[in-house]
Amino acid sequence: MQIKLVNLTKSFPGDAKKNIPDTVAVDHLNIDIQDGELLGLLGPSGCGKSTTLYMLAGLKEPTEGEIWFDDEEVTQLEPQKRGIGLVFQNYALYPHMNVYKNIAFPLTNMKVYSSKKAYKALRYQTILDILKDTDKLIAVINDSAVNDRIKKAAAMRKIQDVYNVASSVAAEVFSLNLHTYKDLKQVKDKVIDKYRQKLDKEKEKLQAKNIRINEDYEILDENNNVVKVTRNLTKDEIDCLVTEASKLVQISQYLDRKPAELSGGQQQRVAIARALVKKPKVLLLDEPLSNLDARLRLQTREEIKRIQREVGITTVFVTHDQDEAMAICDRIVVMNEGCVRQIGAPQSVYKDPHDLFVAKFLGNPPINVFKGYIQGGFVYIGDEPILEVDQKHQTIEDDLTDGLLSPEKEKREVYIAIRPEGFLYGSEISSDSLLFHADVELIQPSGKDISLTCSHPDFVGEEQFKVLLDSDAEVKEGPVTFAIKKSKVYLFDIKTEKRIYLDGRDKE
Ligand code: ATP
Repeated sequence: MQIKLVNLTKSFPGDAKKNIPDTVAVDHLNIDIQDGELLGLLGPSGCGKSTTLYMLAGLKEPTEGEIWFDDEEVTQLEPQKRGIGLVFQNYALYPHMNVYKNIAFPLTNMKVYSSKKAYKALRYQTILDILKDTDKLIAVINDSAVNDRIKKAAAMRKIQDVYNVASSVAAEVFSLNLHTYKDLKQVKDKVIDKYRQKLDKEKEKLQAKNIRINEDYEILDENNNVVKVTRNLTKDEIDCLVTEASKLVQISQYLDRKPAELSGGQQQRVAIARALVKKPKVLLLDEPLSNLDARLRLQTREEIKRIQREVGITTVFVTHDQDEAMAICDRIVVMNEGCVRQIGAPQSVYKDPHDLFVAKFLGNPPINVFKGYIQGGFVYIGDEPILEVDQKHQTIEDDLTDGLLSPEKEKREVYIAIRPEGFLYGSEISSDSLLFHADVELIQPSGKDISLTCSHPDFVGEEQFKVLLDSDAEVKEGPVTFAIKKSKVYLFDIKTEKRIYLDGRDKE
């Protein structure tokens, strides 16, 4: 499903008596989310991510603007009617219920407008379908064995997983004990015969009561239309949906446990299964990994990506962790103070930040920002020219255009941002390179690279800046000479903090 946010705004009223102003948490947001997309809302604490998510869920009412799900405007629609699955950071599982009941909970009072079925006949037909290929059934049962021992619970789970049937059907099929016979052929035919007879008898009973059914065992009215009623889900239907959801998040083996008997990652997977069990059209995840330790976070975020891909559900994922968003999202929305700063594929936003905020927000370690200027075709930090502006490809977009290249023009102050991996050292520096001098204060090898903590008087910020070099670089503490990789440098206007494009290399 596609989602469209149009001028979406939320302000919380202040208190004039206490001199507390209104808070504009979300400020005229315009975002189009594609069908099946995993979109990350990313930004610092308080930037309006959660408020946006809650408006999507219908839990907070917008002050202004519209929310569209495909062609339907849902701005005023109640949360229950939006077809949304929500997962919060604190899992919110019911501690006294086992995993099965937790996942089944949203289904227990769910009303469906659906066909009436001849359930008994349908059940016999389902078993007959499974028995059509007894070799497969026996392989499935054998596959559940641990140390060559077949246990009923594990075998039932396997049958449910493979055939997507209710546990009562799986139990009945298992109890036929087909896997224990040496001469299967005879037994098999007998069993199939028995179920055929049961099915025929059931069909006769329906006929005797003048109840007509179609090939899917749905009950028909006198005009041969499927009879539809508003009803609760049957126990078997609930069972199938719980089995499907728990299989998807890979927690089938824990269905009998209480949440406290699971790890944080497993609990979060239960919460995801519970959100998906009603087959929502949209999945909303609010910092779903923040209660997990570092290793589980990595694992679970991959899980979320896999589950989202498998279900193909449009998903909005809120996080303040850029690594997380970059790793799993199709696109990210970088927000600040209720506004969108940039939207795009993670890598393209990283490579082509449109303003200083986005450049500083993405990247770990963060980008290094220096104060400097452009003059006579060169970019300076301090009095050192560190970069020549490529005149041929120059596409400077703002009114700085003519101020930069001719030597007689006045210098223009800019912010110069250099990614930590944008420094060349030692033999990487060619004889005609422009140079940049700094001081190395700390050297930390980390296996795949070396991290240098350096200082420079024009570095903006309280801490020293970071440089990442190849692990074989031989570097010492004290004065150091670098050259700068042009592709890792970005310039920003000192007032607007908007990007200044010096050449066409990485402009979208
Ligand atoms: P975090 O990452 O810390 O969860 P966030 O980006 O999700 O932050 P929101 O929770 O959406 O931010 O809050 C956005 C702004 O709205 C914040 O300044 C917050 O203080 C304010 N805010 C949120 N809820 C209310 C409320 N009920 N009343 C007043 N202000 C609120």
